Amino acid sequence: MTDTVDCVVIGAGVVGLAVARACARQGWETVLVEAENAIGSGTSSRNSEVIHAGIYYPQGSLKARLCVQGKQQLYAYCDAKGVEYRRCGKFIVATNEGQLDALRAIRAAAAANGVNDLRWLEGVQAQALEPALHCVAALESPSTGIIDSHGLMLALQGDFEAAGGMLALCSPVTGGAVRADGIVLEVGGAEPMQLAARRVVNSAGLFAQQVAASIEGIARESIPPGRYAKGNYYSLTGAAPFSRLIYPVPEEGGLGVHLTIDLGRQARFGPDVEWIDTIDYTVDPARAAKFYEAIRTYWPALPDDALQPGYAGIRPKLAGGGTHGGGDFVIQGARGHGVSGLVNLYGIESPGLTASLAIADEVVECLNLN
Ligand SMILES: Cc1cc2nc3c(=O)[nH]c(=O)nc-3n(C[C@H](O)[C@H](O)[C@H](O)COP(=O)(O)OP(=O)(O)OC[C@H]3O[C@@H](n4cnc5c(N)ncnc54)[C@H](O)[C@@H]3O)c2cc1C
Repeated sequence: MTDTVDCVVIGAGVVGLAVARACARQGWETVLVEAENAIGSGTSSRNSEVIHAGIYYPQGSLKARLCVQGKQQLYAYCDAKGVEYRRCGKFIVATNEGQLDALRAIRAAAAANGVNDLRWLEGVQAQALEPALHCVAALESPSTGIIDSHGLMLALQGDFEAAGGMLALCSPVTGGAVRADGIVLEVGGAEPMQLAARRVVNSAGLFAQQVAASIEGIARESIPPGRYAKGNYYSLTGAAPFSRLIYPVPEEGGLGVHLTIDLGRQARFGPDVEWIDTIDYTVDPARAAKFYEAIRTYWPALPDDALQPGYAGIRPKLAGGGTHGGGDFVIQGARGHGVSGLVNLYGIESPGLTASLAIADEVVECLNLN
């Protein structure tokens, strides 16, 4: 049996939920299909839960624009919906004179992105605010915050359902075909079915390429090759030594081993960058040595044996976008693949959580143009 609806969104991570909410609010009958038995069980529950300011991304990139816009939307949404967050601020630190140029470049990149609230602190000024910190200078970002990402996803789901949307869990998309009047999707699970829609949004995160490749009629050349960059976290036993988030200057593929704090004031370090071929969330205890070394550059008093393997998340990188910020988000509409009514989301790594509401608006705009 084939059910027909106005819109299908594939994948109920934070981005898929935000997109589905926005589609349902357009008045489109929308079904959100999720392979797992719960929302947000992919990358959306394996990240740092940071509301990023929009500092690092190349000027004019989607990441830069949608992060700055999404941050504002997210703070307003949290206030409106009672989603917990804290605007705790963050320091980006230069731990030796050789990193000062990089810090200046970060300040310039931020200003180009419209983030003009960064404050330059000399080492002593930073240490006056964070006594455990070692640095020669720091950039303070007051608009960086932390968020209860699960609270956010539940609020988005609530809005989606209130707008008439339907969430189907345990419903993996296993294939499909492009037809003259839309796309017919094969949906597996306990009761396999076909779902036809004039609008389809592929928001399957790490599996977005796989989903696109399973749909007949999508040109293979339009699917960008992806790579996985695992990020491992270690948690700190004992009290958090800082009240703000502490970031070193960025490294290849990620933001460097930084300290984030969750809303329960538990500190964790990471994510690092480990290139992998298959999805595996195990955190190897042997990586701890590198963490101690990296963390002690800005927190020399880190005690021995204070780090415990935590969890890991995997970044859906696009091949060719090697250095951090080099690979942009891809929001691919008909111009990119030739199929009217289809949007594929590729490479939605950080700051995808921060940008989720802005990405959703962009997708709706794209669907309205197609
Ligand atoms: C280590 C790490 C740290 C990060 N830290 C931050 C941060 O601090 N701040 C920030 O803004 N961003 C951060 N991000 C980025 C952010 O987490 C992601 O951009 C965001 O969670 C992506 O959401 P998503 O909905 O696109 O993907 P996902 O959360 O992965 O959701 C995709 C969903 O699709 C489902 N799915 C897959 N295949 C199918 C199928 N065939 N049929 C149906 N469903 C399917 C999956 O089960 C999954 O639920 C981080 C990312 C990583 C990896």
